[in-house]
Amino acid sequence: MNPILNDIHPLRHWLPNGADFLKISGPCSAETPEQVEEMMQALTKVPGLHYVRFGVWKPRTRPNSFEGNGNPALEWLRDSARRTGLPQMVEVANHTHVEAALKAGIEALWIGARTTVNPFSVQNIADALKGIDVPIFVKNPISPDLPLWLGALERVHASGIRKLVAVHRGFTSYDAHPYRNAARWEIPLQLKGMIPELPVICDPSHIAGRRDLVPEVAQKALDFGMQGLMVESHPNPEFAWSDAAQQLNVRDLNAFWSGLEYASTTGPSAEFNDRLWALRKLIDSLDEDLLNVLARRMEYTREIGQHKADHNITLFQLERWNEILSTRTQRAEELGLDAEFVRTMWMDMHQRGLEIQARAVESARRVEPPVME
Ligand code: PEP
Ligand code: MN
Repeated sequence: MNPILNDIHPLRHWLPNGADFLKISGPCSAETPEQVEEMMQALTKVPGLHYVRFGVWKPRTRPNSFEGNGNPALEWLRDSARRTGLPQMVEVANHTHVEAALKAGIEALWIGARTTVNPFSVQNIADALKGIDVPIFVKNPISPDLPLWLGALERVHASGIRKLVAVHRGFTSYDAHPYRNAARWEIPLQLKGMIPELPVICDPSHIAGRRDLVPEVAQKALDFGMQGLMVESHPNPEFAWSDAAQQLNVRDLNAFWSGLEYASTTGPSAEFNDRLWALRKLIDSLDEDLLNVLARRMEYTREIGQHKADHNITLFQLERWNEILSTRTQRAEELGLDAEFVRTMWMDMHQRGLEIQARAVESARRVEPPVME
């Protein structure tokens, strides 16, 4: 637990009607006054939405892409908010953005993934937030770096913000994975484990990168107990000026929200449940990691068996086995684990590995019987 961040306001203290789940939607970018108005009008038909998101300053990977309409777009937002009464939020990347957005009556702000990576920028924003009471959402940095995310949250918190929310939007990765950004669920779950009071929500759009994959990522976020979703939607997503592939059609939004299954938690108190939830989710996520690692280890074992078979080498090599057993048990002790427990686990794994290798040898040796006429 991080003692510095122990006084964050729970969602139920600041969302209308004591809600403890944040519903956010809106387009990647505010494109034209007409698109803003169409969007806002459409979202008045989505019940229970807390904020409409709009990108006004867009951090694009390459220059010469659409980089947002800036201050004029804030005017469109303000006019439309007056007509519809829906609260809006925008991304800020420096103190000038913060000042302009607040002046335009924007009700909440978020710090984007490319800004969270830079402590100078986060501090610049945090300084502009001193004495201001607006909800601030901090997206994870694009790199899978929990301390960097935590540091950004601490900087914002240190400027007095207590309506603080972390947004999980996935991480850049060159490893194969089905999404635009690797989800790495264990990272937001570890954050929640460290600061149980901190609301952690998910942005399934930037994880998925494709609109057909958004619902499954959103459902996973709910299964992991995340406390809200920020989902990109657009009146004509195919023609959106940014992130066209991942935005939902705003007309599909009600179906999207009602298609999700919301897990309920029950227990003697909210604090008990929060802590129990956070710890269980950490276990779930670690178990998933353990199983993946185990599967990869077995695959390498099989490859070694194949390699030995190819070169006619005995499967069991005492020297290697003794080395494994002594280094693993020694490391277990260093980590405060019971050495006997780890020894038994490795004996089981080794036994299983030998069986797998034996099968590899057997199939390498197997001579196909001649086909009888
Ligand atoms: C966005 O929300 O449109 C955006 C640019 O997000 P991120 O910072 O997560 O890439
Ligand atoms: Mn986007």
